[in-house]
Amino acid sequence: MLFLHNNNYKMIVKANENIIFNIMLKLKFHAKTYYPLICLFILFFLIPPDLNGQERQKNHLKTVVIDAGHGGKDPGACGNYKDEKDLVLSIALKVGKHIEENFPNVKVIYTRKTDTLIPLFERAKIANKNKADLFISIHVNANGDSKIRGTETYVMGLHKSKSNLEVAKQENSAILYEEDYSKTYQGFDPNSAESYIIFSLMQNAYLKQSLNFASYIQKNFNQNTNLKNRGVKQAGFLVLYKTSMPRVLVEAGYLSNPREEKYLNKQEAQTNIAESIYEAFREYKQKVESESVMLTNQKDTSAAQDSIHFKVQVAASSDPIPMDSDFFSGHENVEEHHLSNQYKYTIGNTSNYEKIQQLKQKLKKDFPGAFIVAFVNNEPVSLDKALSIQNNH
Ligand SMILES: [Zn+2]
Repeated sequence: MLFLHNNNYKMIVKANENIIFNIMLKLKFHAKTYYPLICLFILFFLIPPDLNGQERQKNHLKTVVIDAGHGGKDPGACGNYKDEKDLVLSIALKVGKHIEENFPNVKVIYTRKTDTLIPLFERAKIANKNKADLFISIHVNANGDSKIRGTETYVMGLHKSKSNLEVAKQENSAILYEEDYSKTYQGFDPNSAESYIIFSLMQNAYLKQSLNFASYIQKNFNQNTNLKNRGVKQAGFLVLYKTSMPRVLVEAGYLSNPREEKYLNKQEAQTNIAESIYEAFREYKQKVESESVMLTNQKDTSAAQDSIHFKVQVAASSDPIPMDSDFFSGHENVEEHHLSNQYKYTIGNTSNYEKIQQLKQKLKKDFPGAFIVAFVNNEPVSLDKALSIQNNH
């Protein structure tokens, strides 16, 4: 820290200030948008240039977060016997217990084990902080139409039907019980359809795994419970929005349907639901772990045909930057990479190192901190490693 005051450091700080100022002038952003832009640039310059080698170990499902919806002053869907918050806590604890008993090496983390209110983004933070490999949010549903019944498992995304949006609105309304919700969720109004546009801009890095897991849950509900299978669906849930791992939100039946409500209040039903989610977990774990073994084997035998790609990293941010924003305007082939809880943005894609150097020079005009990153077989690696593999071919 003693070296903080040397001239080089001052020059770097000065340069950064100029860059930020120039870009702001160019974009003519409103005052409100200055703050995220500044954050973005600070991140860009402080984060070491490493798309490389920091991905979480893929081959083992080590940590799972089980999230019982609602709690405390937020009852969730209200019932004649018990409210959603109590039913889902009972189910969540049972799911966790099954996993702990059968997989002692898997770390089970609960967002709540008691009747307390945990903010939605806080739940996501718990999962991210613990580098969870899977996030399961457990809920039960309600609808104005008491005839509607059955189970649904949601993955993160933009709703494709009005009824999916209604479920998301209901669940996201949990934030109305949080103090400062308007600030925390940057003006997100859970009841306004317009707010949900943010979910159309996100790229869902874990969609395939999430869909897999969701389909296992629905299959097991079908086999082990009396609940009708309403299928795997997609909608924008705040609790899933910021969690960066495969994640699902389970709606294990409707409290608004009298027959289903009675069923859900039975211990036996809660046990069956929990066992179904556990069984889906077991199948999912087996699948991801067998797949990664296959990938590793393939890599070993096909080392001679590694495909190498160079790209230019132009930005990194803890929050996603819309790909169609002014920030990238005038540039083609912008790609988003979600790595280590960071969104990183690259431009260009070539196996020719000379070409990527030329592109980097060009991009320096708009993105002064741009640098080259390398991928081997679509995995980020250090530039040195990529070049040495290329030179040995
Ligand atoms: Zn709920």
